[in-house]
Amino acid sequence: MIIPKRKPNLTDTLCTRCGLCCNGSLFADVELASQDEASTLEIMGLEIEDDDEEGGGLLMQPCRALKRKRCSIYPHRPDCCRTFECRLLQQVNRGVVSVDQAQTKIAQALEEIERAQELIVRLEQSNERLPLKERCAAALDHSENFAADAEINRKRSELQTAMSSVERLIQRTFLGG
Ligand code: SF4
Ligand code: SF4
Repeated sequence: MIIPKRKPNLTDTLCTRCGLCCNGSLFADVELASQDEASTLEIMGLEIEDDDEEGGGLLMQPCRALKRKRCSIYPHRPDCCRTFECRLLQQVNRGVVSVDQAQTKIAQALEEIERAQELIVRLEQSNERLPLKERCAAALDHSENFAADAEINRKRSELQTAMSSVERLIQRTFLGG
């Protein structure tokens, strides 16, 4: 008997090459559904912070469970992660964007983000535990004192331009609107 091959799902084909909704590029944190969920994740070593609202708390990003581009606690991931679908994934699901096109968009986003990260490091701000936007803001803050230096100033504007482009791309491709 021929057993048909399982059709790879979009998580296999796209998310495992992306990880942008877990690594601090799209979000600084995600809301958890309950205190129980927060406690379970905290026991697993994930960074949780209290929510101002009466929710379950916030799972901070970059998420510590992300190993390379895969969730290392996939069967135990919280509800927000189970239900989240970025705009790109929704478009592929609806057939508006092909899988190949989505892979190209993801590769382009990763490339632009990597470029912004390189520029951040060149401004001597390498706290990789911060979400991308905060890392960028910290690098610009840190270097502001040296902005009279033409070379530093050039790097600062390069970073600002790169980061604006990344933000537009993220908004357009992954968040929508
Ligand atoms: S941003 Fe979209 S494609 Fe990327 S990992 Fe998240 S859901 Fe998957
Ligand atoms: S728990 Fe897993 S799916 Fe959720 S943010 Fe962390 S790495 Fe991503």
